[in-house]
Amino acid sequence: MLASIKKITQQVAAADDLQSALDLVVDNVKRAMRTDICSIYLHFPATENFVLMSTKGLDQGAIGNLCIPTDKGLVGFVAKRSEPFRTNNASAHHNFHPVEGIGEEPFNAFLGVPIVHHRVVLGVLVVQHGDSRQYTDDDEAMLVTLSAQLAGFIAHAEATGGGLRANVLADEQSTDVCYTGVCGVGGVAIASVAVISPPADFKKVPDRECEDIEAEVESFQNALQAVRRKIKVVSRMLARSLKDQEHELFEVYMRMLDDNALAGEIIARIREGQWAQGALKHVIRQHVQAFEIMDDPYLRERATDIRDLGRRVLAELQQTQTQARTYADATVLVAEEVTATMLAEVPVDKLQAIVSIRGSSNSHAAILARSMGIPTVMGAVDFPYTRMEGREIIIDGHLGHIYVNPSADLYHHYEQVIVEEANFSKELEVLRDLPAETRDGHTVSLLVNTSLPIDVSRSLERGAEGVGLYRTEVPFMIKEHFPSEQEQIDCYRTQLEGFAPRPVTMRTLDIGGDKSLPYFPIEEDNPFLGWRGIRVTLDHPEIFLVQIRAMLKANQGLNNLQILLPMVTHVSEVDEALTLIDQAYQEILEEGCQVDKPPVGVMIEVPAAVYQASQLAAKVDFISVGSNDLTQYLLAVDRDNPQVAELYHALHPAVLAALQQIVDAGKTANIPVSLCGELASDPAGALLLMAMGYDTLSMNAAGLPKVKSALRNFTLQQAQTMLQDALAKSNSDQVEELVKESMEAAGLNRLHSHVVKLKAKS
Ligand code: PEP
Ligand code: MG
Repeated sequence: MLASIKKITQQVAAADDLQSALDLVVDNVKRAMRTDICSIYLHFPATENFVLMSTKGLDQGAIGNLCIPTDKGLVGFVAKRSEPFRTNNASAHHNFHPVEGIGEEPFNAFLGVPIVHHRVVLGVLVVQHGDSRQYTDDDEAMLVTLSAQLAGFIAHAEATGGGLRANVLADEQSTDVCYTGVCGVGGVAIASVAVISPPADFKKVPDRECEDIEAEVESFQNALQAVRRKIKVVSRMLARSLKDQEHELFEVYMRMLDDNALAGEIIARIREGQWAQGALKHVIRQHVQAFEIMDDPYLRERATDIRDLGRRVLAELQQTQTQARTYADATVLVAEEVTATMLAEVPVDKLQAIVSIRGSSNSHAAILARSMGIPTVMGAVDFPYTRMEGREIIIDGHLGHIYVNPSADLYHHYEQVIVEEANFSKELEVLRDLPAETRDGHTVSLLVNTSLPIDVSRSLERGAEGVGLYRTEVPFMIKEHFPSEQEQIDCYRTQLEGFAPRPVTMRTLDIGGDKSLPYFPIEEDNPFLGWRGIRVTLDHPEIFLVQIRAMLKANQGLNNLQILLPMVTHVSEVDEALTLIDQAYQEILEEGCQVDKPPVGVMIEVPAAVYQASQLAAKVDFISVGSNDLTQYLLAVDRDNPQVAELYHALHPAVLAALQQIVDAGKTANIPVSLCGELASDPAGALLLMAMGYDTLSMNAAGLPKVKSALRNFTLQQAQTMLQDALAKSNSDQVEELVKESMEAAGLNRLHSHVVKLKAKS
C-alpha cells in the first residue's frame, strides 16, 4: 500500500494543474484498489453543491455537470459527518440519492472519505464497486492518506490561482466574492492589485497578459542573451578545473537555450499573449515535471538543470522588468510573503493597501504596515492572487476581508466607510499637542516604534513623545550587504536628530525568526526557537560592535540615545552585551568622540525573562516588554502562522498575569518599565497596561491618536477595575468581551473596533 500511495502522491505533486492531479488520483486509485469506480466531488459553497470533478468508472460526460446538493446522497452524508463512511448496501442507506444515467446504479459497495483542509470539507473522495465487495480498513486507510495529501494540494492550487473552485468563485458573474484572511492593519481601501514576486522564484510568478508582445519577446531575448553570456564566462573559467564530462553540462545548457528548444517554446507562449515571466514559468514547469517522473536517475537529474536554467533567465527578466514597472494611483500590494523591500518598491503615495498570502497579524510585515498606517490583510491563504493582477478589489483590514467583483451596493458602502474613517482621523488630530492624561489626572508617555526615516515626520505629526523602539534590522534588510559604520551612523542620526531632545531607544540588530537579511540567510527548522536577536549578535561581535559604535557616534551632541537588547533569555547575555558596549564606548572615546554613555535596557520577550525580571532589572537602566514575542512564547503560538492565528491572543489571562509580574519587578528595582509590542497600540490594551503600572507605552504611529483618545476619555480607576475583572477571567474570549463592554460603557465604541486585530481573526 505504501508504495502505491508514494507513487500516487509523487505524481500528484508533479501534476501540471489541479484537474490533472485529480485525474491522476482517480485513475491510480481505481487501478491500485481494483475497484470499479473512483470519483472526486468538490464542494462549491456558492451553490451549496458537490460537483463531480473527476471520475474513472462513471460516465465522463457527468464531470462538471453532476451536482449533488450538500445535504443529499452519501457524498453529502460523508461531508456532513467529516469522517469516512463505508457500506456494502449503498442503496438501502437513508441518505442515498439515486442519480440516473451516470452508470452507478448497480454499485452497492461504497467508501467515501472527506477531503478536509483547516476543518473545512473541500470535497469527497469516493470508491464504488459491485455488490460482491466489502471495502476494508486498509482501503479506508489508503483513501484517508491520499485525501489528506489532496486537501493540501487543492488548497494550495486555489491560493495560487489554479483552483477549480476559485475560478468559479472569482468568476465575472459572481459579485461580492469574499476571501477571508487575518486582520493585519485596520482600515479600508479600494485599489488595484499589483502582485510582487520575490526574485527568481517561479512559484510566485503570476500569470499576466502582456500588453506589448514584441516588447515582451525582446525583453525575453535580452534576458536569454545575458544568461548565455554568463554561462560562457563561467564555462571558460572552469574549463581547466572540470573533467570533460562535467564541462559538457555547459554545452547542454547552451543547447537548451537554443531557439529550437526551450526558447522557441517560450516565445510561442508569449505570442499567445502571456508575459515573458509567465511563459517562462509554464514551459520550465512542464519540462521539469516531464523529467522528474522519469525512472532513469540520469534523466531525472536533468530536471534540476532545467530548473536552474529557468531561474537564471527569470532573474535576468525580473531585473529589467521590475525597473520598468508602473503602479496605479491606488495600489494594493499583493505578495505571497510581503517583505520590507517590497514595501519600498511601491511609491508611498500610491500604496493604499497590502495583502499577504502568508504571515499573520504579528508578523513583521504587518508591523511595518501598521507603522505606515496601511490597511492590511495577512494570511489570505485562499485568495487566488496570481490571477488578480490589475483588478480592483476592496480590502477591509478590520475584518481581514478581501472583496472581488464588488456589487454597486458594497462598493458604495465601502466608499462611505473610507470617508468616515478619514473624518475620524481628522477629528483625532486635535489631540496632537495634548497630554495623554486620564480624566482623573494620570499621565502616560506615548512613544512610537520606528524603523524607516519617513517614520520621523509621521510620528511627530501625531504627537509622539519619543521613540520606544527603533527596529534597526529594517535598514539592514533593505540593503544588499551589512551597512558600514558610516552608513549606520547616517541612518541612526536621522532618527536621533529628528526626535531630539526626546529619547530614542535603539534596539540592537534583531534578526532571525521571520526576519532575515538577504545577504545573511539563516536556515533553521525552528527559526523562532533558534538563532535570533542577541544570540546572533553575541556570536558576531564584529557586527555588534560596529553597530554600537555607530549608535554612539550618531549620538554625539544630542545625547538622547538609549540602547535596547532583544531576545534575552540568560542573565549572562546581558553581562556579555554590556561588556561589548563598554568596549565600543572606550574605543570611540579614544578616537576623540565626546558623548555620554547611554542608558541600556533589556527586552522581556521570553518566559524565562519574566521569571528573572528582577535579576535582569538589577543589571540595566530600564526594561521594555516585547509583548508580540512574549505572547508567542507564552501561548506557544507562532506569531507568523495564519493556521494558528485564532490562538494568538495578547489579552490571554496568562499574558496579562505575566505583564503584571514584569512591571512589578521593574518598580521594585526602581527602573522605568515600558511596553513596545502591538498590545500598546490597542486602545483597550493600553488602558489595561496603564492600570498595571506601565507609565510608558510605545506603539505604531498610526495607533497613537486612538490610544491617546482612549486614555483621555477613561479614568485610571475605571481601568484598574477593568484590569482586576480581566485578571479574574479564565480565558481570552471572556477578557475581550469584558473590555468591549467596558469601552462601550465609556462611549468608546469607535475605538474598540481596533481590538479586533489583537484576536488575529475576525
Ligand atoms: C515584540 O516582540 O513585542 C517586539 C516589540 O519586537 P518585534 O515585534 O520586533 O519582535
Ligand atoms: Mg520581539
